[in-house]
Amino acid sequence: MIVLIVLALSLVALALAVNAFILGEEIVAGYLLVIGFIAMTLSVYVLLQSRRRVMSMKIEKPSMMTTIECRKCGSKSVREFQRGDYVFKELGPCQKCPDDKMIITAIYKEVKEKEKAFPF
Ligand SMILES: [Zn+2]
Repeated sequence: MIVLIVLALSLVALALAVNAFILGEEIVAGYLLVIGFIAMTLSVYVLLQSRRRVMSMKIEKPSMMTTIECRKCGSKSVREFQRGDYVFKELGPCQKCPDDKMIITAIYKEVKEKEKAFPF
């Protein structure tokens, strides 16, 4: 919300600058113009930053992961959750021991580290 106020103030400053210029107060107009531009650049920058943050948060939402384990050799693999997955569900044969089936041992939500790295 603060960003919108700054943006409004910068527009006011620019309007005052135009007004001062019309009145012949060129130095005042110059100051107001600079202030207006700085405020506007700042607010636009912050707006873009916050929008990018929202976008990256959408991309990095936690995804469901499924852990598959072989009961015989204990080899583990992790893949993305697929519809119909449930714990102890039997899957295809193990790559190392073809006569044994692999089972799902865990389903969990993966929280990515990047999500915690945001400054605000
Ligand atoms: Zn195995």
